[in-house]
Amino acid sequence: MNILVLNCGSSSLKFQIVETDLDLIDKNADVQKAKGLIERIGSQSLVALQAAGKPPVKQATPLRDHRAALDYVVRWMISTEAGIPGIQSLADVHAVGHRVVHGAEKFTKSVLIDDDVIKGIEDCIDLAPLHNPANLKGIYAARTLLGPGVPQVAIFDTSFHSTMPETSYLYAIPYQLYRRHKIRRYGFHGTSHRYVAYRFRQLAGREREETNIITLHLGNGCSACAIKAGASFDTSMGFTPLEGLVMGTRGGDLDPSILEFLAHKEGMSMSEIDGLLNKQSGLLGLSGLTNDMRELLDEEREHQDRRSKLAVDVFCQRVRKYIGAYLAELGYVEAIVFTGGIGENSAVIRERICAGLEFLGIEIDTPVNAHMVGGREGEISKAGCKLKVFVIPTNEELLIARDTVRCVKNAPRRW
Ligand code: ADP
Repeated sequence: MNILVLNCGSSSLKFQIVETDLDLIDKNADVQKAKGLIERIGSQSLVALQAAGKPPVKQATPLRDHRAALDYVVRWMISTEAGIPGIQSLADVHAVGHRVVHGAEKFTKSVLIDDDVIKGIEDCIDLAPLHNPANLKGIYAARTLLGPGVPQVAIFDTSFHSTMPETSYLYAIPYQLYRRHKIRRYGFHGTSHRYVAYRFRQLAGREREETNIITLHLGNGCSACAIKAGASFDTSMGFTPLEGLVMGTRGGDLDPSILEFLAHKEGMSMSEIDGLLNKQSGLLGLSGLTNDMRELLDEEREHQDRRSKLAVDVFCQRVRKYIGAYLAELGYVEAIVFTGGIGENSAVIRERICAGLEFLGIEIDTPVNAHMVGGREGEISKAGCKLKVFVIPTNEELLIARDTVRCVKNAPRRW
């Protein structure tokens, strides 16, 4: 089956076309046929499209809304210019898998989309006011352009974390607030944590029940996940993606009293404070320069920039703090897994995070670590060390495509 994987943001649309079915999943032989990104939907949009094995095509064109953007993608997909094998007409797109950010407590696994599911995703808008409406736009657009006969599946960022126990997900605020408003920790990046946990099991030859690991998704957004017997036991993002680790522009954990103090001292409104914590904090806020880890490392190396070093040091220490917390929560941990743009590509950051953790049985193999970048996958700790360290590039799109097939075929999910 050709699956169109869609990830719609408020003014962006990211897609992939993946050929997969139950047999290809078993053989790990799925084929990524094309990918692309449209940004700045609603004005002069930037379009980047690429069929597998061909050079990328970049264009600027006005696209009014998500429907116009998807229409553009679909026309390109079936064109001879794109030349994607096996895709000549709309009938060759067999199903659509959507990344949906928030499924609250309602959606604990991926589901075939019908009117009830759409209503359920709408009901979660309160919890994800920026993301869920954009995801819904993608669902409506796909329904209009491909017709109701093409099945669509929703894959939620939150659902992998639905196995967290109350002790992990409850905030210690009056319990009735959880009852009344569902204020609790949900966790995000679930598709990524779930994918790398699955790959770890394949690489290490473990059954799901034997999989006790800590996964670290370090990209622009960052989160850690404590995985116990193959299921999410705790994660660092909370009610929103703001909690936890230091990220590109989000500060992660902080004392909530700072909000009132800021409002008072700086005369800021709640929405200005929200903007400050989401868009001006983290690596950007600490360094005063950039949210881009690569640039910070360059500044530190080439100009000995003190604030860049500080930002990176705070980032690494926060990760270490969560590793310590999750080791204590899980009791036994076989491996730590790095993923995301930073986790997959920065040997330096991995080494700095793990520095000083030798007492836990972590020993990084420096040459192997240096080599494990640019999509490579494998162990970076020394052979035989007590707590292993792995790098596993994430592939959320593949997992979305596979879940889509399983939901359409009504087949059980095995991981
Ligand atoms: P997103 O969360 O938006 O998907 P990514 O997972 O692509 O983001 O991660 C983006 C981050 O990864 C940026 O901070 C970028 O600087 C960082 N990154 C990518 N390559 C490297 C590298 N070689 N060294 C250090 N950081 C890197």
